[in-house]
Amino acid sequence: MKEHIYTIPVTDAFRLAAEERSCPVCLMKSKLEADSLEYTLGPSYMEDDARAETDKAGFCAVHWKKLYSMENRLGLSLIMRTHVQHIIRVIDKFRGADPVKRAGLFSRSAERAAPLSLYAGLRSIESGCCICARIGESLDRYIETMFHIWTKTPELHTLVEHCGGFCLTHFVTLLNAGPRELDERGWRAFFDTVFPIQRKSMEILEADLAWFIKKFDYRSADDPWGHSRDALPRALKTVSGIVEY
Ligand SMILES: [Zn+2]
Ligand SMILES: [Zn+2]
Repeated sequence: MKEHIYTIPVTDAFRLAAEERSCPVCLMKSKLEADSLEYTLGPSYMEDDARAETDKAGFCAVHWKKLYSMENRLGLSLIMRTHVQHIIRVIDKFRGADPVKRAGLFSRSAERAAPLSLYAGLRSIESGCCICARIGESLDRYIETMFHIWTKTPELHTLVEHCGGFCLTHFVTLLNAGPRELDERGWRAFFDTVFPIQRKSMEILEADLAWFIKKFDYRSADDPWGHSRDALPRALKTVSGIVEY
């Protein structure tokens, strides 16, 4: 297969997924996350553009925690300080809007609009995350690329078979994006390849879980584990898409 610079992250993830029997999109996502964490606490935090972005949106709890665990206390403190300054600016902007000063339950909408602005201003900070946003954008591009090269790349079909399909979250993502990205014939071909793989891997997972549960019965204590020993973490990975347990 001819590889282009934009297809490499996609094909690499599929190859690794086949080796690890993981969801390829989860692997793309965790690579993007690692790169984005690295970028955030790399030299970029001294650049105005990058700081303006992190000041505005901040990070979600998961990514604040991951950044904190990277042990660059100075870098994170600088990012955090300007982020807190941004929060103060937003609070000050709505200083005049006293949420207590209301006419009561039946106050007119104009009187209630101001406190809602403070809510909207802070809510956009509280619910935003620069890293989640970056991952989301890049992952959408990778998924587009995957659909784009799918028909011309039979190797991907074999690799999907080896990795056992996608996690539930990303299977749903593909079901949503596929009909938009492919024409009817292409979508049908993709679906006909992936659906049986997906169905089969869920069936195997269910059987492994059943065996794992059976092993708790003292009568089965001496039976072999078969493939059931890691059935629960595998199921968590498949159902929730979380890579590490
Ligand atoms: Zn996944
Ligand atoms: Zn996040």
